[in-house]
Amino acid sequence: MTIFKKTNDLRFFLTGFTDRTKKTGFVPTMGALHKGHISLITESKKTDDLTVCSIFINPAQFNDPRDFEKYPVTIEKDILMLEQAGCDILFLPLVKEIYPAGSGQDKQYDLGYLETILEGRYRPGHFQAVGMIIDKLLTIIHPNNLYLGGKDYQQCMVIKKLLHQLNLDKTINLKICNTVREADGLAMSSRNMRLNSEERKKASAIFNALELLKLNLEMGSLDLLKEKARNILYENAFRPDYVEIADAANLKIIPNWDGKTKVVGLIAAYMNEVRLIDNMPLN
Ligand code: AMP
Repeated sequence: MTIFKKTNDLRFFLTGFTDRTKKTGFVPTMGALHKGHISLITESKKTDDLTVCSIFINPAQFNDPRDFEKYPVTIEKDILMLEQAGCDILFLPLVKEIYPAGSGQDKQYDLGYLETILEGRYRPGHFQAVGMIIDKLLTIIHPNNLYLGGKDYQQCMVIKKLLHQLNLDKTINLKICNTVREADGLAMSSRNMRLNSEERKKASAIFNALELLKLNLEMGSLDLLKEKARNILYENAFRPDYVEIADAANLKIIPNWDGKTKVVGLIAAYMNEVRLIDNMPLN
């Protein structure tokens, strides 16, 4: 695997590589890699001639400065994991390489409704910053395929909208991959590393709450069902930001289910200082 730290070096390499018959796959990450990230690399390896991973902890997308300070960094282990997975290129830029003029929002994206609900509501500015970093990375890498994890359901929808807005949806295929889970159902996440052993034992409650939504989904009002799911979280020391059921196609919140619309359950909750998110298609 070749590691590039400078944008221009990576650009230069990629210009030499892309002869239009070769396909490039791109997996953007913030590092502290786990099997969920590696599953995206593996997917790219199946289709692409060149797999590029980026590790960049984007300061602009952390609305909570403590979350940024405490975000896990395990770069040597990450490099080993990427090498073992057969990743070809790692782009590992410093902040000043990506934001030479500082990390302020230099461009606004029209994310509409998606920015106002769920993660957008609880993390103001987050998706604008995600848009900005993805825009910058795609401009450097120009992949044919972009691999994202379904664990970040709303982020996938935001990036889909962004690709359309940037006129990139014709040239970049968005590939959304399944969430990889621990044996007890907890979605793998870099933030899980911050849980102590007691917290870790309780953390599967998010998965259990989503399973409850799935197993008990019925036509009509969903209030009581969501209340039951919230209770599973409270019983396990979680403080939920939200437990919602939304239209899987557009994330409109569904208070009363018609028995047909494809819906997804979405949860964000704090275990002490650590905020975890997860989702599950319910039907
Ligand atoms: P992150 O490093 O958290 O920004 O994640 C980088 C990419 O990996 C995003 O597209 C995530 O959705 C994806 N990802 C994170 N956790 C998982 C998981 N458990 N399963 C599959 N993909 C994941």
